[in-house]
Amino acid sequence: MPKIHYKGRDVVAKKRLGQNFLVDENIVRKIIALAELEAQDNVVEIGPGFGALTKELASHLPTFTAIEVDKTLAAFIRAEFPQVTLIEQDILKTSLSELAAGKKLKILGNIPYAITSPILFKLIEERAAIHSAILMLQDEVAKRLSAKPRTKEYGILAVQLQAFAEVEYGFKVKRSVFKPKPEVDSAVVRLTMRQHTNIEHEGVFRTLVRTAFRMRRKTLENNLKEVFELRGVSMDLKRRAEELSVQEFIELSKAVQWRTDTQVV
Ligand code: SAM
Repeated sequence: MPKIHYKGRDVVAKKRLGQNFLVDENIVRKIIALAELEAQDNVVEIGPGFGALTKELASHLPTFTAIEVDKTLAAFIRAEFPQVTLIEQDILKTSLSELAAGKKLKILGNIPYAITSPILFKLIEERAAIHSAILMLQDEVAKRLSAKPRTKEYGILAVQLQAFAEVEYGFKVKRSVFKPKPEVDSAVVRLTMRQHTNIEHEGVFRTLVRTAFRMRRKTLENNLKEVFELRGVSMDLKRRAEELSVQEFIELSKAVQWRTDTQVV
């Protein structure tokens, strides 16, 4: 495990927990600015680490919650930031709805790369409890999340996320502002949860999107026909998945039926 010198102390960074600590205070300020915080906001920080974001958050908020799975780092945050309610737990096992207790959360975090997708899907699942999330993640993932139709980055992740949240690519963050330095650049994104979608059946929608992108060069018809009954669909299915807007995917999911002779993929 890499040993680093961080803010006056020698520490061991655990790769398994995605411990790359932010050293650039200007980036910290830019992240906080994206959150448009107000003193009464119900804020949760994911993975405070040695408190790079925590310190700046503490200067804006009287109190907030931080969730850190690493015992040593949790103890550090408890000692340094008494106004923070530190929950020593895996974010994936934490009920955000319970934390919200009726007041929608603003979530911030420089999240561990290895669990980016599970975190994103958790946020979508618990979106009724969330106002927005400002997340630092791999630049390549940030581009895929915020991609527009007819681009090479547009695919399953973009459609699944954008159906449930407005996704904005904030800014790119060079790998050199972390200790230890990760192998890739990062970016900050803002997800603002949609409280209403027109989706009738989330299961149909999710399977439709996955199936539509199975072979990117095939038409929608050719990808979808083995799983869905397409008679009665008025949309032009000779197009490819990458040409459809998120709203068109939602409309299509309302128009198709499962084929009775196939399994859900
Ligand atoms: N926020 C700090 C910063 O910007 O310098 C640390 C960011 S570091 C990329 C990710 C942090 O998430 C680490 O502190 C790590 O211990 C913590 N972490 C990793 N997996 C976690 C999990 N499942 N639940 C909660 N925290 C986790």
